[in-house]
Amino acid sequence: MNTVWLGLGSNIGDRLAYIESAIEKLSGILADMQIAPIYDTIPIDYLNQSNFLNTVVRGETVLTPKELLNKTQTIEQTIGRKRITEKGPRTIDIDILVYESICATYEIDSNSYLTVPHESMHMRLFALKPLLDLNPDLVDPGDGVPWSIKAEKLSEQKVELYTR
Ligand code: AMP
Repeated sequence: MNTVWLGLGSNIGDRLAYIESAIEKLSGILADMQIAPIYDTIPIDYLNQSNFLNTVVRGETVLTPKELLNKTQTIEQTIGRKRITEKGPRTIDIDILVYESICATYEIDSNSYLTVPHESMHMRLFALKPLLDLNPDLVDPGDGVPWSIKAEKLSEQKVELYTR
């Protein structure tokens, strides 16, 4: 079994319902699933959009990284993913953040790739904060630096615990 950490995000419609639906569907493909708290976060990159809800789930899988991406993309489609622009608002987004200690890029098709760890996660407190809630001592397998050290540099990003 391989341990994986997936990042979930939603900023359109009933954000909590989309996150909960994704968690429910992911529990069908991941064993021993653990769920981090949910955070309300201010968008980065594409700023003119609503706040996101973000969380991270950890679980065990026998799927390869590419097989796992295939499953998470199917779940996104099943939940009814809608996206208005690249990096813009979306009903549900599921990213493979970390897959065991693999550092690799896989070709999906002629113009898309899967990179693990996720190539932007070191710049995103909305991904690192819930990841660290689950595993405070986890280390970036790429450079051996704890994710907590990378998160400390992002303290200006607004990531607040979501209360229902
Ligand atoms: P987005 O919908 O903006 O999150 O982008 C999804 C695309 O990003 C997928 O089709 C993948 O080819 C690519 N991608 C690259 N690395 C990852 C990753 N670690 N997790 C999920 N998608 C990834």
